[in-house]
Amino acid sequence: MVGKRVTAADGREEDGTKVGLPALDLSLAFPQATPASIFPRSVSDYYQFDDLLNNEEQSIRKKVRAIVEKEIAPIMTEYWEKAEFPFHAIPKLASLGVAGGTIKGYGCPGLSITASAVTMAEIARVDASCSTFVLVHSSLAMVTIALCGSEAQRQKYLPSLAQFTTLGCWALTEPDYGSDASSLRTTATKAPGGWHLDGQKRWIGNSTFADVLVVLARNADTKQLNGFIVRKGAPGLKATKIENKIGLRMVQNGDIIFKKVFVPEEDRLPGVNSFQDISKVLAISRIMVAWQPIGISMGVFDVCHRYLKERKQFGAPLAAFQLNQEKLVRMLGNIQAMFLVGWRLCKLYESGKMTPGHASLGKAWNSRMAREVVSLGRELLGGNGILADFLVAKAFCDLEPIYSYEGTYDINSLVTGREITGIASFKPAALARARL
Ligand SMILES: Cc1cc2nc3c(=O)[nH]c(=O)nc-3n(C[C@H](O)[C@H](O)[C@H](O)COP(=O)(O)OP(=O)(O)OC[C@H]3O[C@@H](n4cnc5c(N)ncnc54)[C@H](O)[C@@H]3O)c2cc1C
Repeated sequence: MVGKRVTAADGREEDGTKVGLPALDLSLAFPQATPASIFPRSVSDYYQFDDLLNNEEQSIRKKVRAIVEKEIAPIMTEYWEKAEFPFHAIPKLASLGVAGGTIKGYGCPGLSITASAVTMAEIARVDASCSTFVLVHSSLAMVTIALCGSEAQRQKYLPSLAQFTTLGCWALTEPDYGSDASSLRTTATKAPGGWHLDGQKRWIGNSTFADVLVVLARNADTKQLNGFIVRKGAPGLKATKIENKIGLRMVQNGDIIFKKVFVPEEDRLPGVNSFQDISKVLAISRIMVAWQPIGISMGVFDVCHRYLKERKQFGAPLAAFQLNQEKLVRMLGNIQAMFLVGWRLCKLYESGKMTPGHASLGKAWNSRMAREVVSLGRELLGGNGILADFLVAKAFCDLEPIYSYEGTYDINSLVTGREITGIASFKPAALARARL
């Protein structure tokens, strides 16, 4: 679609064919421009981070980078603009061999947490929507089944999820409980042979098409949190796509309604009996989310680096201007620091020393630094910085939901703040006093 000439205002080509959306004719933008569909080579690895990775981590990084650049870059703008998921690309994503990440057995790759994180960044470098699709499927749905499921559930569900022949989603957030997710109200009531789920979920990625929905609900008797595996098409289950998002537009986020949805006892996750039980899942997923801003920033830097050499103003490439060089260097510095934070987080996890505060600081700080990177990138591309075809505008928008999901910047800061001060400040002081 990129580069096709569209002549009519309604998106019709000269021969009258309707092409969906009017595409940018890049030769009109400026003749030397290379669109992000032809992805630039990676030039952000200034401090030679490959030296920090073992052979397995280096080789999967290289493999994922090559596949995503070849298979996802050419289609991403079109699908992002249409706000549709590119289902035909699922076999390509399956060929990355990353679903299940650190899970061993059941057809999963059993990667190190560092390898898993680095691949997440490599997918996000090209397209953040695809990385979020993989993250929800793998680091939330699959990891919950692996860590909190029974052996029978692991054997039943993980192999096809690992191949992407079935797809997963993970439902915690509700319309009235976002940051305050542990207060969720969806109920699980005991019924003969199983449970009835009633309530609502919001923002659930992949939920409009997922075969396997991992759902967190409050046990009506114990009032504790329990986990359930709900199958696509269960009577009483309805997922509706949330429209008009400005970021991660390919990701299909849904509002879910549960009306007396029956879940057989064999699909209750025996390892989820309180909110604490999902903290081991969130520990892994938060590391993965901390690596998404690293990948997004790397991609934006790579595109800007090429663009500044291709475009000339005042008789010189944009790369020759001091102000532009300072911005590029600031972006590069942020990326080096973000990578080191992400890498250290993985090492802390691997050695069993990572705390919730460590993971939250990594997620919060990396997403804050990345906001500066994408914003500088947007400036550097001038007017073309608002066109999705040059990646930067798309990445700029995609970072916003990442800044807010998996705990907002503020909530993650408060998790770390509680850890370093010993004082929880999630509830306003007046409210906390009133409840004393
Ligand atoms: C694109 C996208 C994908 C998502 N995918 C999923 C998914 O797959 N599964 C899932 O379960 N959820 C998902 N979420 C939900 C996500 O985790 C929540 O949006 C997030 O936790 C924030 O909740 P909220 O949007 O309700 O914001 P709110 O909780 O309403 O917060 C609004 C603002 O108030 C601030 N705030 C709230 N409480 C405090 C406090 N105590 N102190 C200081 N500031 C505070 C917040 O930081 C924020 O700035 C997704 C969200 C998005 C946008």
